[in-house]
Amino acid sequence: MDFDLIVIGAGPGGYVTAIRASQLGLKTAIIEREALGGICLNWGCIPTKALLKSGEVYEQLSHLADYGIKIEGRSYDFAKVVERSRGVAKQLSSGVAFLMKKHKIEVIDGTATLQKASPAPKVVVALKAGGARTLQAKNVILATGARARTIPQIGLEPDGEFIWTYREAMVPKACPKSLLVIGSGAIGIEFASFYRALGAEVTVIEALDRILPVEDEEVSVAARKAFEKRGLKFRVGAKVTKLSKTKTGVSIALEAAGKAETLEAERAIVAVGISGNVENLGLEALGVAVDRGHVVIDTHCATNVPGLYAIGDVAGPPWLAHKASHEGVHCVEHIAGLKPNGLTAPIPGCTYAQPQVASVGLTEAAAKAAGHEVKVGRFPFRVNGKAIAAGETEGFVKTVFDAKTGALLGAHMIGGEVTEMIQGFAIAMTLEATEADLMATVFPHPTMSEAMHESVLDAFGQVLHL
Ligand code: NAD
Repeated sequence: MDFDLIVIGAGPGGYVTAIRASQLGLKTAIIEREALGGICLNWGCIPTKALLKSGEVYEQLSHLADYGIKIEGRSYDFAKVVERSRGVAKQLSSGVAFLMKKHKIEVIDGTATLQKASPAPKVVVALKAGGARTLQAKNVILATGARARTIPQIGLEPDGEFIWTYREAMVPKACPKSLLVIGSGAIGIEFASFYRALGAEVTVIEALDRILPVEDEEVSVAARKAFEKRGLKFRVGAKVTKLSKTKTGVSIALEAAGKAETLEAERAIVAVGISGNVENLGLEALGVAVDRGHVVIDTHCATNVPGLYAIGDVAGPPWLAHKASHEGVHCVEHIAGLKPNGLTAPIPGCTYAQPQVASVGLTEAAAKAAGHEVKVGRFPFRVNGKAIAAGETEGFVKTVFDAKTGALLGAHMIGGEVTEMIQGFAIAMTLEATEADLMATVFPHPTMSEAMHESVLDAFGQVLHL
């Protein structure tokens, strides 16, 4: 037996799993075909945050007069903006290499496929350096992630120049003057926010009737209003039927309210969801159950094949880095014979646009649909002292409680730094807090987090500052 555990894929799911495995005394190898850190560190979560920060700083310069500060003119160096983002990604990827070494995890650079064997499938690695290695472990965890969903039949696929997915949108040569973004999920909205901040004319096209459709409806409405104030344009209820290249850019045919229309721009970003990386792994020959592009797993992340597990994006939604790490730790603790608590903790979601959007648990509509009688509280940042002092008065906090038990069912926020605050409600939900626990919690003053407290108080008719 070469290893106790082989992890395939070194994204935030795979590498965190490998570290936990090593902590538990398992002899572990991790196989990666591209770069340590996966999409999250190299092409997703982290480099976009660097781009967004540059955009925010630049946009903020046009509001300096509000703060009593004067500057003359403003400009940016686009190549430097992209270079900084790549530098941040590189730094973090090297950090993962250090962590693998520290935990004595063998990193194998290459592409893995699986072959039938016992007690777990064999792993054959086509090495980047040439040649191949065949490895046997007691257990194998698939953490191969996902990629941008493309729909070639209607032209929704990157062409390397005019039509981008998140990959191309992360490393453009120049900031386009005009941009069409297809899809208003987190990816579409974050890139729309970044390019708008640097001055591009951006239109986001969304097939459903509101933007950020997974969020609470009130948040969607407020987000659209706030983004429109920044000059972003939206076409909702508009389905793209064809994306084509023109001599100078792109042309999009769409259908909205039964009418056909055409939009043109220099560039387009396709952000219509993601597909699990289930291909070319040998899953079919092994008989691994795959449903709509995702490996089917049980409550411990086990597949239907003995010794083979799957975690993160390849195992289905929500497609979030922190969900992948959480599943990986659970899975490996289960493999090691511990009795982990189960995958019941609520998973927060964040969109890092300006303003930010963050949520955890059920939306008001979903809570009602699930049969809960609800109590809902809201508190706007426009009356929060810290928000006023900081000039960040946009947005609100909304909380949804079960009216009978007082259990917090969901929390939804839009505003300045809400992605840093949502964790408070995630902890509350994980600890099964009720309204009484949250009301009795002391929130520091002055902070924007006081709006969280006030939202809870509002749900039970005790709001103080409204
Ligand atoms: P998504 O599924 O969240 O959003 C895609 C949107 O595209 C949907 O709203 C859908 O209705 C729309 N759409 C689909 N086909 C269309 C068409 N033909 N015309 C118009 N609209 C169409 O997908 P995404 O934004 O690509 O993100 C993928 C995943 O990655 C998501 O699950 C997301 O949560 C995750 N992600 C998270 C973050 C974050 O946490 N900040 C950032 C990026 C991505």
